Amino acid sequence: MKALVKSRAEPGLWLSENEPTPVPGQDDVLVKVRKTGICGTDIHIYKWDAWAQKTIPVPMVVGHEYAGEIVEVGSHVRNLKVGQRVSGEGHVIGMKSRATRAGKFHLDPETRGIGVNMPGAFADYVRVPAFNIVPLPEEIDDELGAILDPLGNAVHTALSFDLVGEDVLITGAGPIGIMAAAVARHAGARHVVITDVNPVRLDLAARVADVTPVDVAKEDLRDVMARLRMKEGFDVGLEMSGAPAAFQQMLDVMLMGGKIAMLGIPAAPFAVDWNRVVFKMLTIKGIYGREMFETWHKMLAMLQSGLDIRPVITHRLPVADYLQGFEIMARGECGKIVLDWS
Ligand code: NAD
Ligand code: ZN
Repeated sequence: MKALVKSRAEPGLWLSENEPTPVPGQDDVLVKVRKTGICGTDIHIYKWDAWAQKTIPVPMVVGHEYAGEIVEVGSHVRNLKVGQRVSGEGHVIGMKSRATRAGKFHLDPETRGIGVNMPGAFADYVRVPAFNIVPLPEEIDDELGAILDPLGNAVHTALSFDLVGEDVLITGAGPIGIMAAAVARHAGARHVVITDVNPVRLDLAARVADVTPVDVAKEDLRDVMARLRMKEGFDVGLEMSGAPAAFQQMLDVMLMGGKIAMLGIPAAPFAVDWNRVVFKMLTIKGIYGREMFETWHKMLAMLQSGLDIRPVITHRLPVADYLQGFEIMARGECGKIVLDWS
């Protein structure tokens, strides 16, 4: 089969035409991949940065955002059928930990990642544990199915705290921040302000969701708040940039008792003015992945009830043009990029 492979421990990614097709175990299914999304994680692997070097075994088929069709089911699998259109959770959990046995699957410390620690979905076929599979409702097509993983990050983060009637600050208008803005709006927030330093992304944010985009390199966030007649600060903060400056700015403009959900992954440890956190009595919650499978339920339900995030997909490319997709993504000149495997 063909697959995008990290074949060598150096920058790059290679299209292989003769990877062995995975064989599903008795609790797995084999999925014929139709569409895949390029994730920031894939860009780390492509660039071969310090995180990728210590995390990714080589050679490795990468990719974890996918939609496709089940073509084979393992002998123990009862609830899934050949021919079903599916996406799935890319975090593969163990069954031994206290969290897993308590049903808190997303908190399992033994989590491994499809396309990170085990063979991925940038391939004609991917093997997935049946447990991880999420069947796609008819109205959710393959390209939306291929971006449910990052939408799930956005939904998990955004729904961490009650948003109804709240003023929400999102730092970072990457694909996930933009989708979180749409979710916050759908969930009933009052003001949704999104910051970035990249005008392309802020323009896209304003096209995807009814939000106030703020270029913090050019505009003072406090002026924007005054324009919106926000007297005290934001009730809820969603940190989606990983940029230390964005987090510091968020701490500055949070309301007393405000709540922050933190998805962005900083490249390195950084100092924080903890007095801000203490004296404002802020709550900070770290977010990893998606809740299995409550986030999946909620995002599918919201997509079925009017949440529209399709405009976040800015590029659709055949897999043969994957290098172009990776380069556009690395430059940040896009929303989501979907590769077509058919
Ligand atoms: P992205 O890199 O595409 O977007 C981040 C955005 O932040 C960029 O548009 C960048 O211009 C912007 N930014 C940089 N400095 C800023 C500043 N000072 N103020 C405001 N914005 C600034 O990333 P993404 O794919 O949208 O993901 C968002 C974040 O979530 C990333 O940090 C990513 O690594 C992380 N992530 C975490 C998880 C998890 O499970 N915790 C999962 C997926 C992604
Ligand atoms: Zn992803």
